[in-house]
Formats: sequence, structure tokens, C-alpha cells
Amino acid sequence: MHNVVIIGSGCAGNTAAVYTARAGLKPLVIKGREAGGQLSITSEVENFPGFPEGILGPELVENMKKQAERFGAEFMHGAVLEADLSKRPFRIRVEDEWIETLTLIIASGASARWVGLPNEQKLIGKGVSSCATCDGFFYRGKKIMVVGGGDSAMEEANFLTRFGSEVALVHRRDTFRASKIMLDRAKANPKIKFLTDTVVEDIFDVEKGEVTGVKLRNVVTNHVWDQDVDGFFVAIGHIPNTAVFRGQILTDEDGYILSQGGARTNVTGVFHAGDVQDRTYRQAITASGAGCMAAIEVERFLEAEGH
Ligand SMILES: Cc1cc2nc3c(=O)[nH]c(=O)nc-3n(C[C@H](O)[C@H](O)[C@H](O)COP(=O)(O)OP(=O)(O)OC[C@H]3O[C@@H](n4cnc5c(N)ncnc54)[C@H](O)[C@@H]3O)c2cc1C
Repeated sequence: MHNVVIIGSGCAGNTAAVYTARAGLKPLVIKGREAGGQLSITSEVENFPGFPEGILGPELVENMKKQAERFGAEFMHGAVLEADLSKRPFRIRVEDEWIETLTLIIASGASARWVGLPNEQKLIGKGVSSCATCDGFFYRGKKIMVVGGGDSAMEEANFLTRFGSEVALVHRRDTFRASKIMLDRAKANPKIKFLTDTVVEDIFDVEKGEVTGVKLRNVVTNHVWDQDVDGFFVAIGHIPNTAVFRGQILTDEDGYILSQGGARTNVTGVFHAGDVQDRTYRQAITASGAGCMAAIEVERFLEAEGH
């Protein structure tokens, strides 16, 4: 029987592990299929306070893990495939093993949707990104491309004009899901060039280890061409990793956990942390902050119960 099981080993889960471990609760962290979370697929992180020269994403999240282990946190391989939150202790299945716990912190993140091109995955963190706030700064004076047709694509494109010499916005249709106000703002921005009815067929250059360009196709005319690009931003949404809790934890229509205040979910004793509940900020520091909040709530909750 565990005091607290933390689902996810990104910034949110690892920070919750540091706090609950230092509180003597011996947390168990389930790492998931993406150990270290989203930071483990990026390169330089320049906006996490405390690292004036920046730090590599995998190193940052590994440091958090080591820090938690130093205070007694345990880390377990595998993903949660099933959960029974109908009564306490809660029961969760990690691969083939059922585990019981008094409290649970869900820090399973929200995975970015990618276009789905083979080279795209190989170039994540090397010119391919899903986060303008995180990586826009690296493309000062460079050619930037944004893929998407919703509000977040418009927002990212507008934001990226602060850095890029030009921003090409690629969308596979000529109509947009984005709200009129966001679309109008993007259209009024002289640095944004719209490429509608257009899809990305390939990204170069895996051998060089950086993005140098893309192959594009107009879906109406079938015209194919190559275009130079330095930064390739995918803004087609995120998928919160909450499928295993469906019907038990309240979420919005997209699957983001609906907070009941602080780090509380609708199930007493189950708490949320990080991007799995956050469709607005989605940063390493906010995820870590949320992990801290969830841990403090767990400590107080268990203490009130006399554990
Ligand atoms: C390319 C890229 C670059 C970025 N750069 C920056 C940056 O420079 N600065 C910054 O502040 N932010 C950056 N971000 C954003 C930042 O990485 C996220 O905001 C942060 O990682 C969110 O932390 P999290 O712990 O909530 O979720 P995640 O990091 O997504 O971690 C989720 C964890 O949950 C686990 N998991 C999922 N499902 C299950 C399951 N069923 N069972 C068990 N475990 C599960 C996963 O394996 C993973 O370990 C970047 C993101 C990307 C994609």
C-alpha cells in the first residue's frame, strides 16, 4: 500500500516527487512511455529559472528525478493502463501489476499532436517544435513556418513574428477553425504569409541534424515545391493523457482535467498536476509549480486523515 502514487515523470510528476519524498511519504512515480516527459525530447531550455546559461531539457528533468530519489522517491517503468478510483484505496494497473494507494497525483501531461511525417520526429528539438513560447527565441532573424488553422496556430504565428524575418502559416484548407478576431489579427500582420490549401510532405535535413527546409504540396493544383525554413512549429493541438481515467475523473470536452480548485479533482484524494489540466500556460515552470501544489495538498490530506 502506497501513501501516494504519481502518474508521470515530467516536470510536474518529478517536482511532486521531490516534495512528497521530502515530506517522508515515499512516493512511487510511474514513469510512463515517455520517461522524463516532454522536456526529454527537447534540447536547450533557456527559460527555467536558476540556469543563467540554459540547460538541456533531458538534463533538467533527470536532475529533478535524482533530487527526488535522494529523498526516497521510487520510480517504476511502465504505463498506467487501468484505474479504479471508485473507492479507497485506489487501485491502478501498471502494465500487468495492480498497485494500491491512498492518494494519487495525475501528472500525465498533454502530448502535442504532430503532422505525422517520419523526419518530423527525428528533428524535434532541432528545428521542429510545438511550443512558440519555448523555442521562438532561437529563430531571431530566421525563416519560420507554422502549421495549423486554429486559434493556437494564429497566436503562435503572431508571437513568432517578434523573432522571425518571416512567418509562413501553412493550412491544408482555405477556411479556418480560428476565431475571426484571431484570424483577422494574423492576416493584418505584414510578416505572416498564408499558404492555404497546402500540406507539408517532408522536412529536411535529418543528416545535418537541423531543419533547413520543407517540401510542400498545394492540394488543389498538386503543385509541389521546396521552401527554405529554419524553424518549423506545429500548432495543431494537444491530447491530454486522461483516457485511462475516462468516466471517473471529470474533464472538459478535449480531455483536460477540470480542476475543483487548487490541485483537486472531482475524486477526493486524487490530485492533478501540470499540462494534463493546463491548456493555457504549458511550461516546465508552471508544470513544476503545479507538481508542488499537488504534493502539498497530498501532505495535508493524509495528515488530516492521521497518516
Ligand atoms: C519540443 C518541446 C519543447 C519545449 N520547450 C520548453 C522550454 O524550453 N521551456 C518550457 O518551460 N517548456 C517547454 N516545453 C513544454 C514543457 O515540456 C511542458 O510544459 C512540460 O513538460 C509539462 O510537464 P508535465 O509534467 O505536465 O507533462 P509531460 O512533460 O508531458 O510529462 C507527462 C508524463 O506522463 C507520463 N504518462 C502519460 N501517460 C501515462 C500513463 N498512462 N501512465 C503513466 N505515465 C504516463 C509520460 O510518460 C510523461 O512522463 C516544451 C515542450 C516541447 C514538446
